[in-house]
Amino acid sequence: MYNSIVMVKQVPDTANISGKVMKDDGTVNRAKLPAIFNHEDKVALELALQIKEKYGGKVTAITMGPPRASEILRDCLYMGADEVYLISDRKFAGADTLATSFVLSEAIKKIGDYHFVFAGRQAIDGDTAQVGPQTAEKLKIPQITYTEEIKEVNTQKVIARKKIDGGYEVVECKLPVLLTVLKDIVEPRPFSSKRVMAFKNAKSLMDLEKLTEENSLLYIDDLVHEYEERGLLIKTLTMDDLELDPKRCGIKGSPTKVYKVESVVLAGSSQTKVEPTKAAMGELVDQLMTDHIFG
Ligand SMILES: Cc1cc2nc3c(=O)[nH]c(=O)nc-3n(C[C@H](O)[C@H](O)[C@H](O)COP(=O)(O)OP(=O)(O)OC[C@H]3O[C@@H](n4cnc5c(N)ncnc54)[C@H](O)[C@@H]3O)c2cc1C
Repeated sequence: MYNSIVMVKQVPDTANISGKVMKDDGTVNRAKLPAIFNHEDKVALELALQIKEKYGGKVTAITMGPPRASEILRDCLYMGADEVYLISDRKFAGADTLATSFVLSEAIKKIGDYHFVFAGRQAIDGDTAQVGPQTAEKLKIPQITYTEEIKEVNTQKVIARKKIDGGYEVVECKLPVLLTVLKDIVEPRPFSSKRVMAFKNAKSLMDLEKLTEENSLLYIDDLVHEYEERGLLIKTLTMDDLELDPKRCGIKGSPTKVYKVESVVLAGSSQTKVEPTKAAMGELVDQLMTDHIFG
């Protein structure tokens, strides 16, 4: 039996950005952007589910984000996750990768009892690929990045293939270990319609608090108890639940500030016709190298 914790992120749908992307304080205006499940994290979840099917164990998905991030946690339940955690607090807002990996590592420590931590290699918004390795460091566990395949899991170690420049490496590592995965190593399974029916009403504490704000006849304790009973409560961890130092969280705990984000559209300014001769090709290559376009 091997237990996995999968770090998943809700990201702005960068292919459909419109309106004001950034707030004046340099953080992303997430409320204004269509949000999607970071694809590589779905692949990471699929890999964790395959290990569970092969060796037994439990799959837990966690995300640090605003209350609406519980949308992707419901998706994790539809795919087969056993348990999900929303790590959410206004004080986590504006976090850079240092502050994000700190909070995630503390949440993973609190959840505990894991053999694998899975993450996507990269999130499509920050694109830093830093959170996985930083989280492994804070958990003081080894990491295998750019994972292409999990070849074998036995007693307390894993053998995996990872991508390197110009090829791959087969590595062996003792458990627990953190793996970051590449986007096309396995196809994420579709949502099971049975699980969609079972979990479509799953809600976090923040979702339930919103219900009580909209309806004064509802009491939060009753709602929490009812959803817990029905197995539909998305566990929520706040800064106080994790007993974290506020100076290490959110914008306060972030030495990196995003100065500006703008969409860059690469458009050709002119066209050059090149004769299909060796000499003409040679001249073109020389020109491209002179222009530092490659080489
Ligand atoms: C345009 C832009 C540029 C940025 N540049 C920087 C920068 O240079 N340095 C910096 O420190 N921050 C930067 N940030 C902030 C950064 O996006 C956030 O800190 C973010 O939470 C994590 O970084 P990332 O998106 O690069 O994730 P990555 O490090 O690319 O994510 C890798 C994996 O970590 C896991 N993961 C990441 N975030 C979460 C989460 N919130 N919950 C659960 N799992 C998660 C996922 O599995 C993900 O696939 C930038 C943000 C934007 C929008």
